Amino acid sequence: MTDRPLRLRFAPSPTGFFHVGGARTALYNRILATQHGGTLILRIEDTDAERNRPEWTQGIMDALRWIGAEWDEGPYFQSERAGLHHQAAERLYADGLAYYCDCTREQIEARTKGKATPGYDGFCRDRGLGPGPGRALRFRTPREGTTTVVDLIRGTPTFENRLIEDFVIQRGDGSATFILANVVDDMDMKVSHVIRGEEHLPNTPKALLLWEALGGGEPPVWGHVPVLVNEKRQKLSKRRDKVALESYRDEGYLADAMRNYLMTLGWAPPGDREIVPWDVILETFRLEVPGYVDFLFLDEAPDDPASWTKAMTGDAPAILDAAIAAYEACPWDAAVLKEGLEAIGAALGLKLAKAQAPVRVATMGRTVGLPLFESLVLLGRGRTLTRLRTARGRI
Ligand code: GLU
Repeated sequence: MTDRPLRLRFAPSPTGFFHVGGARTALYNRILATQHGGTLILRIEDTDAERNRPEWTQGIMDALRWIGAEWDEGPYFQSERAGLHHQAAERLYADGLAYYCDCTREQIEARTKGKATPGYDGFCRDRGLGPGPGRALRFRTPREGTTTVVDLIRGTPTFENRLIEDFVIQRGDGSATFILANVVDDMDMKVSHVIRGEEHLPNTPKALLLWEALGGGEPPVWGHVPVLVNEKRQKLSKRRDKVALESYRDEGYLADAMRNYLMTLGWAPPGDREIVPWDVILETFRLEVPGYVDFLFLDEAPDDPASWTKAMTGDAPAILDAAIAAYEACPWDAAVLKEGLEAIGAALGLKLAKAQAPVRVATMGRTVGLPLFESLVLLGRGRTLTRLRTARGRI
């Protein structure tokens, strides 16, 4: 999946009974770690002192063992790592990447009511406030560019930075917010893959920006797992549906049956079977990978003969030559890459879609897939040029 040692984590917040959706996510993590010889870390995200209770933590650990999602490392307790989170916040402030803010919620609401862009309006961004009682620390989100999440399930969702508010990383009482603690811990624990519920996807561009600001190096590969739904395809709700794993156990369901049930929601082994032995799951489970992000992890572009035949006709050599020349030195930015190819197409009397095809197949392997220019940004200039030249040589 990448070249790094595979390190996964399951990071529950002990705020109640153990949700079956969480149990499924834990199983996914366990299985991937086992399949790829990786390590599964258990991290208890217990920073919300008002909502956390030790018995919930114990309940989660017992339930994880019961369902067979045993961890290899930990448990680590996030509440014991506050010093590390605080250091990271200080560093961001010292580097000018975060700023103090004394706005109250009421003031922010009064200023932003009816505005098109939701969230904090950046009022304190350039006020130069220092630390002080009750002052929150906000991350200085870049106003330009985009942030792309590489997701094994979702592909490469891309977010515009200017739409991401200057979010709080440290509250007025000095405690780290979820997003900061979560990122600092993932960095410190050298997490390579984050498989978690899709409700966290909106947090991920923020996490990536923080990761970069803290100099964390290669960020994790993500996998945002769809939420569990009931037979009416409604999101499971605590009030309507039975969602606590513990209650199934206490009613006498067998762990094997429960695990089988959770694992066959949203995934099916090859062949038509409802009861799947654990060793078959371990061997055949795949994370619903759309097959569209493989181009990022392979040494060369994936080879799809049908796509090749379709794309590499007519003007393809001229397009590839021109793209190689244009992409050698231009800024490596999706909008610039797009403009470049538009101009190449226009010179040949081609619409963008037609001009894109040979470049897409040369770099990503297929005529269909994720947005081309964002993908090239992720692939990087070096690999893009190598693949364009290889394809040109092959025609
Ligand atoms: N503690 C978070 C939760 O329970 C999980 C965060 C994560 O997996 O990154 O929702």
